[in-house]
Amino acid sequence: MRPAPSRSSAAGDEARQAFHRAGRLVVKVGSALLVDPSGAVRREWLATLVADLAALVARGCRPVVVSSGAIALGARRLGLKAGGRASLEDAQAAAAVGQIRLAGLWAELLADRGLEAAQILVTLGDFEDRRHWLNASATLDRLLQLGVVPILNENDSVATEEIRFGDNDRLAARVAQAARADAVVLLSDVDGLYTADPAGDPTARLIAVVDDPAAVAGLAGAGSGSGLGSGGMAAKIEAARIAAVSGIPLAIASGRPAHPLARFLDGGPATLFTAPQAAPARKAWLLGRMRVAGRLHVDAGAHAALRAGRSLLAAGIVACEGEFRRGDAVDVVGDDGAAVARGLVAYDRAEVERIRGLRTEAQAAVLGYAPRSAVIHRDQMVLL
Ligand code: GLU
Repeated sequence: MRPAPSRSSAAGDEARQAFHRAGRLVVKVGSALLVDPSGAVRREWLATLVADLAALVARGCRPVVVSSGAIALGARRLGLKAGGRASLEDAQAAAAVGQIRLAGLWAELLADRGLEAAQILVTLGDFEDRRHWLNASATLDRLLQLGVVPILNENDSVATEEIRFGDNDRLAARVAQAARADAVVLLSDVDGLYTADPAGDPTARLIAVVDDPAAVAGLAGAGSGSGLGSGGMAAKIEAARIAAVSGIPLAIASGRPAHPLARFLDGGPATLFTAPQAAPARKAWLLGRMRVAGRLHVDAGAHAALRAGRSLLAAGIVACEGEFRRGDAVDVVGDDGAAVARGLVAYDRAEVERIRGLRTEAQAAVLGYAPRSAVIHRDQMVLL
């Protein structure tokens, strides 16, 4: 690990250029910024952010907003304890009440600047299913062409615990992939990523530029600092990873002061995650997925073949887990127990159980039909 990447401020300036040049910019706003600890909306502050967004639009940039705050807002209106997060039922009820207010607030403040708002609520499943994903992507595209500012949030009122994003940081990264955005800014109640906890360690330094999110994963303390949102630093670093696979740089910047976006673009404190290389879109979508339906354990020979860029054949599979169906995403696990690849499987689990360990010539007799060319074709697979 490289806890304090020694990048010069020149590298930081260069990395920040990507945000200035962005034609499409995803801006995520955390709950703690929108709602104060008593549950009241920080309306004046939000008006300054909307002014920043309007300035971006005026110079041709198309912002996409991912806004948290529904649960916190709804909890206050309903008088629910623990900010509405005492139980899933509370959070779902609070979100339903809060979301309508939140959307109204954004629509009203954007209208004050002559901008039209659109609301899109998504669940994790919407982005894991390729058809829904392409649909969401097309809708975002059309809205942006029309000059509308999309406001997204998770559909917390219907998502069950197992199929939730749970935090808007990773949602923002997925939205950026879907919107084919050029950069993401996570406005948060912290300035960025520190080398240690700044509250307890006077030597803690803000890390200006990170080239590899995996190298800083150890610096994330779990959970949300404010207790209002649910992200925390781990979710932000994971968001940076998801964005990076699509070649999208991501910044974590403090949203507390007025005009937070302008302040960030003017060089305010932040941690910038660079994204030097983009995987092809379909592979990036696969890598950004948050759920897999199963795991295929493979032998050393198959592992080596995958590394060499070949497809996964049944002969190298030693065991399977999970009730996956044809077309589901599964992880491929090497003989050391670590996931080595992820891909869309060409068979249901029952079929894989029948053909695993068999060479292609022997499979037809077991299946009763001609086997497919691979269990996971290399075009449907990414190495991890
Ligand atoms: N979707 C949640 C809300 O609107 C926020 C999730 C998060 O804290 O990141 O309240």
